[in-house]
Amino acid sequence: MLVAILKEARQDETRVALTPEAVKQLVAKGCQIAVESGAGVASGASDGDYEAAGATIAKSRAELLSSADVLPVVNTLPADEQKSLKSGSVMVGFLRPLDEPNALSSAIGGGVTLFSMELVPRITRAQDMDALSSMATVAGYKAAVIAADSLPKLFPLLMTAAGTIPPAKVVVLGAGVAGLQAIATARRLGAVVEAYDVRAAAAEQIKSLGAKVIEVDLGGLQTEDSGGYAKELSPEALELGRQAIAKAAKAADVVITTAQVPGRRAPLMIGRAAVEQMRPGSMIIDLAAPAGGNCELTQPGQITVHNGVTILAPLNIVAEMPVHASMLYSRNMNKFLQLILKEGELAIDRADEIIAGCCVAFGGEVVNERVAAALKAHA
Ligand code: NAD
Repeated sequence: MLVAILKEARQDETRVALTPEAVKQLVAKGCQIAVESGAGVASGASDGDYEAAGATIAKSRAELLSSADVLPVVNTLPADEQKSLKSGSVMVGFLRPLDEPNALSSAIGGGVTLFSMELVPRITRAQDMDALSSMATVAGYKAAVIAADSLPKLFPLLMTAAGTIPPAKVVVLGAGVAGLQAIATARRLGAVVEAYDVRAAAAEQIKSLGAKVIEVDLGGLQTEDSGGYAKELSPEALELGRQAIAKAAKAADVVITTAQVPGRRAPLMIGRAAVEQMRPGSMIIDLAAPAGGNCELTQPGQITVHNGVTILAPLNIVAEMPVHASMLYSRNMNKFLQLILKEGELAIDRADEIIAGCCVAFGGEVVNERVAAALKAHA
C-alpha cells in the first residue's frame, strides 16, 4: 500500500503533510512511502531526510497521483489532479468540505474516500489528531509576534534613565485556542492584555493567563452549543459585544481577532466607526480573515491602512511557521493514519466515531449530512 507525500500545490503553502519523523513510524508499520521531490524543503526536510526515514523519491508527481492508495495532504488537490486519483484511494487533509464543497466534486465522483481534518470530532480520544488546535496554536503565537515586530512601540513596560515607557495594550477577541495563545504570547512579551469571548468558560482561561476580561452582559443568553463551540449570536447580542469592543479598541495599540463560529461567516466584531476611533499607528490582526474576518474593513489576504490604522488579514499565517506547523500537523495526521491502517493496509472502520465524524465521501457518495447540505447550498 502506497502512501504519497506531495508538494502542496497552493501558492502560499509551505507546510508538508507528513515529515520524515512520521514517515519512519509508518514505514515501521509496513507502509510504503513515496515523496514528490522537494515536498518538504520549505518546512526544513530535504529529499535525503525522507530517504533516510525509509521513503523513496517519486519519478514524477503524475506517477504519484495515479498510483497512491493514501494521500495525506495539507490542502485539497486541484480539481484536475483529483481526476488522476484511483477509485478507492484515500485523501486526508484540510479539505474545506463545508466552505468549498464543490472543489471536492472530482474526487467524490471518482470514488475517492475523503477525510476532513476539520471535521475530526473534538473528543478526548481524538485530541492527538486535532489539527485545528495545532494550527490555531501556531497562528495565535505568530499573530502576537507579528504585532510586537510591526508596532512602532515597545511591548513591555520599561523604566529607563530617560523616563518610563508604558506597556503596549493588546486586545484579543475570541479566546479559543488561537486567542489564548495570542494572549499568552503578548503577555510574555510584556503587553497588558484584555480579551473577550462569548463562551462563559473562556473568562477563567483569560484570567489565568494574566489578562483582563472585557465584560459584556448578554442577559444570560445561551452562547454555546452542545459541543462547547460558540453559537451564532443574534444581531442584538453581537451589537452589545461590538460596543464593549469599540471602547477597548479605542485605547488599544493592537487588536488580535480570532472569533469564529464553525461552518459560518466569522462574526463582525469591529465596525468601521470603531476602527476610526483607534489611534493612528495602532493595528488589527484579523485571524478570522479566511472566514470573512471579524473587522468590517478587513480585506482577506490584504494589508489595509485606514486613517493610520493598519489591518492585517493573513489567509495562511501558519505557513509563515512551516517547520513547527508541519511538525504538529504531521503528528496529527500520523495519528489519524494509524486509525485507518492495520499492518500497512487500509482498514477503515466506518463505525468508529472519529472516522464517521470526519468522513466526507466514501465509494462515490457524500456520507456527511452537513457536507451534503453545503453541496446543495452551493449548487
Ligand atoms: P473557534 O476557532 O471556532 O473560535 C474561536 C473563538 O471565537 C471561540 O473561543 C469562540 O467562542 C469565539 N467566538 C465566536 N463567536 C464570537 C463572538 N461573537 N464574540 C466573541 N467570541 C466569539 O474555536 P476553537 O479555538 O477551535 O475552540 C473552541 C472551543 O473548543 C473551545 O471551548 C475550546 O476549548 C474547545 N476545544 C476543545 C478541544 C477538545 O476537547 N479536544 C480541542 C480544541 C478546542
